[in-house]
Amino acid sequence: MTTSSPTAVLARIRATRPAPQPDGERCEMCAETIAEEHQHVVDVGARELMCVCRGCYLLFTDSHAALRYRAVPDRYLSFPDFALGRSEWEALQIPVGCAFFFHNSALDRTVAFYPGPAGATESDLDMAAWATVSRDPRVGLLADDVEALLVRAGDNGEAPHCWLVPIDACYGFVGGLRMLWRGFDGGTQARDFIDAFFTKVAERSVAQLP
Ligand SMILES: [Zn+2]
Ligand SMILES: [Zn+2]
Repeated sequence: MTTSSPTAVLARIRATRPAPQPDGERCEMCAETIAEEHQHVVDVGARELMCVCRGCYLLFTDSHAALRYRAVPDRYLSFPDFALGRSEWEALQIPVGCAFFFHNSALDRTVAFYPGPAGATESDLDMAAWATVSRDPRVGLLADDVEALLVRAGDNGEAPHCWLVPIDACYGFVGGLRMLWRGFDGGTQARDFIDAFFTKVAERSVAQLP
């Protein structure tokens, strides 16, 4: 675990947004009441996730503009036969069975996080191993800051499964998992939560061939 700024930012997200408010949340831009299911924008400079209403969300959907805020897209893609086999996964040295990767435009580099009892933990990314993975042209589909490459590697020796998912789904996943984590390996509840999350991701995803 490192103490670099992305981890600090994630710590802030965890600390300030443990769960949706029972009496309804408000848009963090215009203060309008929003539903429990709502959209998010990333504050690129501060590297924070903000809960927003539909109107504010739509102001920041242009990914080509040099905007401070970027709307988190809602697409899910699965990447069959992705350039991340068992040996590439092992070269990345992630200590648990899943992780997510995204390009942080403020740092101008790809960062890697994995879930655990403390929430999202940053992994020092082995750039040589990542270079092999990023030869797959589908890595180019990921929008900076707002979309992540999500990887799940089972312990059965098969090639890991890879998806493109919204970054807020990753934060929701690690946040929810942190609340359930017990003991060394997370325990039964954590394992069920992980299985349910990946079932939902698989159901929502559309296959994207290379
Ligand atoms: Zn708003
Ligand atoms: Zn929210």
